[in-house]
Amino acid sequence: MKTIQEVLTTPVAGEYDVLVAGAGPAGVAAAVSAGRLGARTCLVEQSGMVGGVATSGLMSHWTGNTRGGIYEEILDRSHDENAPNMRKVIHTEKLQNALLEMLQEANVDLRLYSFAAKPVMENGAVAGLVIESKAGRQALASQVLVDATGDGDVAARAGAAFALGREEDSSMQPMTLMFRLGGVDMSRAIHPGSFETKVEVPHGEIQALARQELAAPAGHVLLYFTTLSGIVTANMTNCIQVDGTNPQDLTKATIQCRKQMEAIVAFLQRHAPGYEHCYLLQSAAQIGVRETRHFKGLYTLTSEDILAARVFPDWVVTKAHFNFDIHNVQGAGLDANGCQHKFSQPRGYTIPYRCLVPESIDGLLLAGRNISGTHQAHSNFRAMPICANIGQAAGIAAALSSQKGIRPRDLPASEIQTVLRQCGVEP
Ligand SMILES: Cc1cc2nc3c(=O)[nH]c(=O)nc-3n(C[C@H](O)[C@H](O)[C@H](O)COP(=O)(O)OP(=O)(O)OC[C@H]3O[C@@H](n4cnc5c(N)ncnc54)[C@H](O)[C@@H]3O)c2cc1C
Repeated sequence: MKTIQEVLTTPVAGEYDVLVAGAGPAGVAAAVSAGRLGARTCLVEQSGMVGGVATSGLMSHWTGNTRGGIYEEILDRSHDENAPNMRKVIHTEKLQNALLEMLQEANVDLRLYSFAAKPVMENGAVAGLVIESKAGRQALASQVLVDATGDGDVAARAGAAFALGREEDSSMQPMTLMFRLGGVDMSRAIHPGSFETKVEVPHGEIQALARQELAAPAGHVLLYFTTLSGIVTANMTNCIQVDGTNPQDLTKATIQCRKQMEAIVAFLQRHAPGYEHCYLLQSAAQIGVRETRHFKGLYTLTSEDILAARVFPDWVVTKAHFNFDIHNVQGAGLDANGCQHKFSQPRGYTIPYRCLVPESIDGLLLAGRNISGTHQAHSNFRAMPICANIGQAAGIAAALSSQKGIRPRDLPASEIQTVLRQCGVEP
């Protein structure tokens, strides 16, 4: 391959105790939590929005649950008060405003429109971040960096070990461009919220009709009411066999999903009661990427841990609850290894601190969907409430490590737990 050589001198634009890359549910929670403990904290985000998939991905609602901790605070501060019975349904604008307010209250230095390009390494440990923006290339110094980019971009560049997708063949869950429909008659509208939800409509069963009439890999119906009259969120576009760490695949998925949208709208007009006069209102600013890198941490969470509702001694996330939400890696619908309605484990599980600590790189913590877990375990903890509380734990750990001048791996989990208990998190 042809190469070029660059000799670079990069200005240091800021020095922080805690740097967080990525402002999704995990990154915002991490930055707010570190800031609240008095750490000089900076949050770097490539887009112009905070909230990650929850906002720029035009997400419908918070699925799964946790008890205690920052997720409940986010919900309290961002839900649509005009729809008190739909607290978990996301109002994108209210959520962004609430998150911005929390960041400002915690004195977090927010840098939007800034791409976390690579870590600054010193003696094999992460000591900061190189960012790229309209201001050019700049460096930010950190005691501890939290990688909450979803894909673990910084951790990967730092040399932290990872595997892509599922263990046997690296296949990753499909991507989806979420979109909203207007003009829906809510009094009659159907809203199948899982692949396993079957709804009889005048021409047949809606999931079967979708498989017959929508071109693969589209072919399932997932519709969610918003808190706004006549507006419904659709999780129905689908692009398989793509890698979210490859910009060409991201481009391909965006184009493919955009092409599916018109056909989906026409399908709903044809078959779905209440959607006869619906129209395409808005699509997400970013393609939704469900799964990419799984990092190797000091511990790797497994599906067995989740099914046994294990309480780890070094718990930092507790009472986490969701199902195995694995979308079919080969087409529409649920994967053979996925389980939504029939998920039988009613008790919440815990996530140990060790899943947030990369096995071999210091100065770095993982937060959100890129922590150390198997493909199947990830399909559960990737739910946003759980990611937010993972971020909270990572932010607290980063602040405590920097205050004590120790490596995150040397921080006793009991010290994180003391702070978490004050936030209402109990095993
Ligand atoms: C289509 C789809 C539907 C889903 N449905 C639901 C649902 O209904 N309910 C639910 O609870 N969960 C749902 N999920 C899962 C959930 O949205 C994600 O797993 C969760 O948002 C992950 O949180 P995170 O903070 O780890 O990452 P993200 O939300 O992905 O946030 C990562 C942030 O980092 C930024 N970033 C990435 N790389 C860089 C970089 N190099 N430099 C700077 N910034 C960077 C991104 O712009 C983004 O803002 C869905 C996911 C998808 C894709």
